Amino acid sequence: MKPIKLNLAYAGFCYANQHHALRGSKRKKIKFHALWGLIKHPEKGLILFDTGYSGRFYKETRFFPDKLYALATKVIVNPEDEVINQLKKQGIAASDIKHIIITHFHADHIGGLMDFPDATVYTLSQGINQALSISSFTAFSKGILPGLLPEKLIKRILLIDKTCDAIEDPVFKCKYDLFADRSIMIYPLPGHAAGQAGVMLNTSKHQYFLIADACWLQQSYQSYVLPHIITRLIFQSWSAYKESLMNIHEFHQLFPDTIIVPSHCEKSTAPLVSNTINFDVL
Ligand SMILES: [Zn+2]
Repeated sequence: MKPIKLNLAYAGFCYANQHHALRGSKRKKIKFHALWGLIKHPEKGLILFDTGYSGRFYKETRFFPDKLYALATKVIVNPEDEVINQLKKQGIAASDIKHIIITHFHADHIGGLMDFPDATVYTLSQGINQALSISSFTAFSKGILPGLLPEKLIKRILLIDKTCDAIEDPVFKCKYDLFADRSIMIYPLPGHAAGQAGVMLNTSKHQYFLIADACWLQQSYQSYVLPHIITRLIFQSWSAYKESLMNIHEFHQLFPDTIIVPSHCEKSTAPLVSNTINFDVL
């Protein structure tokens, strides 16, 4: 693969139950950081990987039924945590971001999407189709807050599975070459959410597989441990989730040197994130 540059950081967090994230584990509250990434591509420029939480979460969950989302999930995001403000602090303007990869349409992944009105948004079609068609009364139960979707988003969406060439993959069956230059590969990892995507890329130091919420904690893919059965309520497809997780488990056995990054696993992300953008670390 063609090497590119990557920086990872957090944009807010929520509290989750460890025994929900990992079946059979201790009952305790753990932090689920909202991971986002900044990718530097030699020709395409700066690309966002997800957009974290933003203060809009609070605004969008003031009233029922969406308020139930906030009651079930305690979210902490301060203005300085928002992706747009972290970028500004580093001298990067919203208009410098021309491309955004959205793994899925849950609030902790698209919270900052509205801050980048000029960027092309890359996603798998099932995810955006669900986000745009789900009833506003039940959307919160699937982790979706329709108010976080920018107006006219559909005009600047590029559907990866409709536009990019599908390449056969021995483990995942198929993957997509995002820019047709072997720099960023998109893997369908459905189940947690409709059309959830993972991103594989190489820096000059390592290969990274950013798997978003295909599992929450590293023990899940390492030992194939499912989350608590209650999580089926918010998942799009339990059978697809299990298949995606098994594929990642198998991939890890075959390619143990690839750094797998579940977005909310603090053990996985803490050694990788930084407060200042530096493309020479990862
Ligand atoms: Zn998430």
